[in-house]
Amino acid sequence: MSDVPLTKDVEGDAAPLAEDLVVLDGVNKHFGALHVLQDINLTIKRGEVVVVIGPSGSGKSTLCRAINRLETIDGGTITIDDEPLPAEGRGLARLRADVGMVFQSFNLFAHKTVLQNVMLGPIKVRKQEKAKVEERARQLLDRVGVGNQADKYPAQLSGGQQQRVAIARALAMEPKVMLFDEPTSALDPEMINEVLEAMKQLAREGMTMVVVTHEMGFARSAANRVVFMADGRIVEEAEPQQFFDNPKSDRAKDFLSKIL
Ligand code: ADP
Ligand code: MG
Repeated sequence: MSDVPLTKDVEGDAAPLAEDLVVLDGVNKHFGALHVLQDINLTIKRGEVVVVIGPSGSGKSTLCRAINRLETIDGGTITIDDEPLPAEGRGLARLRADVGMVFQSFNLFAHKTVLQNVMLGPIKVRKQEKAKVEERARQLLDRVGVGNQADKYPAQLSGGQQQRVAIARALAMEPKVMLFDEPTSALDPEMINEVLEAMKQLAREGMTMVVVTHEMGFARSAANRVVFMADGRIVEEAEPQQFFDNPKSDRAKDFLSKIL
């Protein structure tokens, strides 16, 4: 099933959420004495949008970085599309390319144009043909609404535009899953929505997404499931409406009372 299209050009209803795409089984991670991920069991189905919320320091970023293998884990397994994440080597580079990541800071290459930023990965890592890569890069930039910025340099763009370029750049690698770690936290308020809209569009197209965010409106409208983390554990997970309207744990109630 690995040749299922990554972005389905269907409007509205995506394919039924049947297949497990990302599976974390008993994942543990320590930083010295700090047990930052504690027995994490989490299954993300193909096409699913999972929003991860929780207090600062609860392990949300470490979870994302573990899925992308930017952090090693010291217990448990993570599989993507039935393939376990290898510790190192060529398999790791390939699997990492299956996971697109968008961070709080945009991390664009300052000395390259927007178009070059988006083309770089497919040419260097995927070894794809330049003309094809450029065509697709322009399509992706159009899709996130910055097609007319292709020849500018990152510094000439607003933060919201830069973050949308970062999304296009991640998509250019044709990932199976996209991870977003607080993608709007560094943006001025008036730019948050344009980035969230681009993400919602991606969700509608059927992309599998893990989104760490404090944007509860996004969680309510775009998530299939909310995962609430505290102290390195998944404390609660539920559909958004159920989670926000009727949180079960005291930790979640307390957290929601502070942010809503
Ligand atoms: P969150 O994203 O939920 O705010 P993080 O995953 O960034 O949480 O961090 C979880 C805990 O791990 C925090 O206590 C943080 O200080 C600690 N931590 C994160 N990265 C490192 C690291 N590289 N070395 C040591 N401690 C770390
Ligand atoms: Mg974080």
